[in-house]
Amino acid sequence: MNTPHDSRLRPETVARPRAVERLVAGQATSDGAGVKLTRVLTQPLQRRLDPFLMLDAFGSDRADDYIAGFPDHPHRGFETITYMIAGRMRHRDSAGHEGLLENGGVQWMTAGRGVIHSEIPQQEEGLMEGFQLWLNLPARDKLSAPWYRDFAAAELPRFDTAEGVVVTVIAGASHGVAGAVTREATAPLYLDLQLPAGARFAQALPADHNAFLYVYRGELTVGGTRVPAQRMAILANAADSDGVLIEAGPETRALLIAGRPLHEPIAQYGPFVMNTEQEIYQAVADYRAGTLA
Ligand code: MN
Repeated sequence: MNTPHDSRLRPETVARPRAVERLVAGQATSDGAGVKLTRVLTQPLQRRLDPFLMLDAFGSDRADDYIAGFPDHPHRGFETITYMIAGRMRHRDSAGHEGLLENGGVQWMTAGRGVIHSEIPQQEEGLMEGFQLWLNLPARDKLSAPWYRDFAAAELPRFDTAEGVVVTVIAGASHGVAGAVTREATAPLYLDLQLPAGARFAQALPADHNAFLYVYRGELTVGGTRVPAQRMAILANAADSDGVLIEAGPETRALLIAGRPLHEPIAQYGPFVMNTEQEIYQAVADYRAGTLA
């Protein structure tokens, strides 16, 4: 942990903060071999939250809700970022990558032209809690080579502010601290914020980047709007805004996610996200022919 006096830290100033455009309650669903989860960012929000395609929150201490995991399945055309708050999950994929994702760790996988992988819980009881975010790839990178990296909790850049906010920088940069991963086209920012009761946090954001918060413990206030737990707050893109100001109610944990929109057509069929229907047919044909990955 770095102290608030860490020389890397460059506190962010926000003079014209964003307002909350709307609050979204996720949809209960199941995926994989029957894993219960909440789909927070659903398909109808893909255009509004471009370049993000999906956010799933999973969290249960009932093994039946997660034990079957996600057996072998394909992806093409985007990236998956899995952040495990509690629990253990093993990943194996067709590119030869294997990793154990556990308490506080992140797995970043670029499916690119194609990956077939499995994500299987390595526990038979206890709490399993975390998130999977889907980040789109620009058209020119959709058929790029697959890429994969695991980050244990201790490897993730982390700092604490003068107000005691602990910030984990999964992607992008915050207060001068570079995150674990950077991406040029979409410039994703992915922060996990742990805020003591009453603490405030400022983050600069380019006005044209789409941004949202997901509160998973406690409650926040943003621009006068209360954001309770298990709600996503979509942040407005006022042209003159320069960031977001967050104030915790009780002790709170939240994700702050933002990125530069691609403004490209989105064609999705399950685990394939391309630009055109023709590219979707091709992905399905390649998968059936055994040439996707
Ligand atoms: Mn998957």
